[in-house]
Amino acid sequence: MKLYAPSTIKDIREKHGFNFSKNLGQNFLVDKNIIDQIIDESYITEDDLVIEIGPGVGVLTAEAAQRAKKVVAVEIDTSLIPILEETLAEFDNVTVINRDILKTDLKEIVDEYGTGGGVKIIGNLPYYITTPIIMKILEDDVKVDSITIMMQKEVADRIKASPGSKIYGALSAAVQYYCTIEQIATAPKEVFVPRPKVDSAVLRLDVRKEAPIELLDEKTFFRCIKCGFEQRRKTLLNSLGGTGLTKDELRQVLDDAGIDPVRRIETLDLQELADLANSMTKFTDR
Ligand code: SAM
Repeated sequence: MKLYAPSTIKDIREKHGFNFSKNLGQNFLVDKNIIDQIIDESYITEDDLVIEIGPGVGVLTAEAAQRAKKVVAVEIDTSLIPILEETLAEFDNVTVINRDILKTDLKEIVDEYGTGGGVKIIGNLPYYITTPIIMKILEDDVKVDSITIMMQKEVADRIKASPGSKIYGALSAAVQYYCTIEQIATAPKEVFVPRPKVDSAVLRLDVRKEAPIELLDEKTFFRCIKCGFEQRRKTLLNSLGGTGLTKDELRQVLDDAGIDPVRRIETLDLQELADLANSMTKFTDR
């Protein structure tokens, strides 16, 4: 059965009385090339545990199951569970968990289903929560090798953006801190049913084994970039007010970091962001 064929999805919908939910970001893939690209470029091996976010009717799940030792797919929509039981019936290495990915403890999944091999995350993400999902995976501090995900092209562009660009933001800095980034495909609206309003792109985020910058305290780093980018048009002296430090204290922190207080956060590269955060950590630890 060609799961990805629009006619198969139509049959499934009729048989199970399934309706696409716009609120859950349900845009299912119906293009074998892009499915193959996502799977090929996630470099799944036969020792791996694959965690899939939002399997839908299981187009990526079925392909991953043929390459990985184990696949755990987390799907929020209860009405898709009986469908997945049918479409994935031939695979004995797939477990579907009916849960919200944002409320799922990824460490527990790795502890319970880990294969002793690598851990790869894949997914054609529900676009309404792309950023929270990415941040959750990164901040959960779970041992993952790579994250290969389809998202809105505009979000992919923001993740890849360089300092100084208008679209460089907290998400770019956070992802670039944790991962190296490879764009493996772009996808027009036509590869989905129903078609989304925007174009999409697939990124593979390879989680770094070693941090690219030395941080005294990760939490302070993330607090800095969150506050700073929330008021990105302001100078650092004004935009960092949300960190709780007074202007005089901030002047001192910026001076210690060797950063001009009239600069804006969007002009700071990763090393300068680290210098800023480390200077703040030292100051507040005094
Ligand atoms: N993987 C399928 C495909 O490519 O055809 C479906 C992708 S569709 C863009 C997103 C999927 O994520 C849907 O199945 C949707 O129900 C599911 N989803 C939405 N919000 C979710 C959440 N918070 N947790 C887990 N799954 C979610």
